[in-house]
Amino acid sequence: VSVELYADLSAAAKKDDISKSINYGEVCHFIKLEMENHTFKLIEALTAHLAKKIILHFQLVEKVKVQVKKPWAPILLPIETVSVEMEKQWHTVYLSLGSNMGEREQNLNRAIALLKEDEECQVIKVSSYRNTKPVGGVEQEDFLNCALELRTLKTSEELLDLIGVIESKLERVRTIHWGPRTIDLDILFFDNDIINTQRLTIPHPEIINREFVLEPMCEIAPYWMHPIYRQTMKQMYAAFKVK
Ligand code: ADP
Ligand code: MG
Repeated sequence: VSVELYADLSAAAKKDDISKSINYGEVCHFIKLEMENHTFKLIEALTAHLAKKIILHFQLVEKVKVQVKKPWAPILLPIETVSVEMEKQWHTVYLSLGSNMGEREQNLNRAIALLKEDEECQVIKVSSYRNTKPVGGVEQEDFLNCALELRTLKTSEELLDLIGVIESKLERVRTIHWGPRTIDLDILFFDNDIINTQRLTIPHPEIINREFVLEPMCEIAPYWMHPIYRQTMKQMYAAFKVK
């Protein structure tokens, strides 16, 4: 097993103090224990397991690369090793939450609690909840909206899966497009990534048109930069208001 750890070591350097760094001895023993206590059929599974456990256990680690080499692959050819390498890292994500059915405040609270329950997610900041008039032309109740900052180990696809699970736990019924919902969770930003796939558009394309996104984003991350428009949330909200 080979491991690369990425962390800010400036405090350890300045203070000459190992408690501000990552003790590689501990990492090695940690890996040994994980491998003794778990059995996997595939080195893919072992590699993913180690990456996740290491980054969750050693709090200074921002990113980890794990390579697992398997010697003597039984294929009757002179191949020394076959290996799998995987990376895991903390991502900064912003989500928009909205509810306009049932106990709206409770729905937002529950969605946030479900995010916190996932060991790969840390809720860093939550904006205040605000009442907003529905957009999109469908006659319906007002929304309660907020934005939040998440630190997550998930990929954007994995995060979308979790959002789907949370939405169905809160019994969101998909009926009318842009219609009433117990909960809607949208990914606004995922690091500075620009993503356009069948399932995902990131940054969320409606950010620029939605006061209920721009306003709470200004509250929790006024200087966050939109990776396409190259403007901060503050600048985008100011431009929105003069429109
Ligand atoms: P909306 O949020 O536009 O009212 P939905 O919540 O019903 O609509 O989302 C429908 C689909 O939008 C999701 O199944 C998902 O695949 C897709 N989608 C695309 N980009 C995003 C994003 N940034 N955040 C959340 N969902 C997204
Ligand atoms: Mg949505």
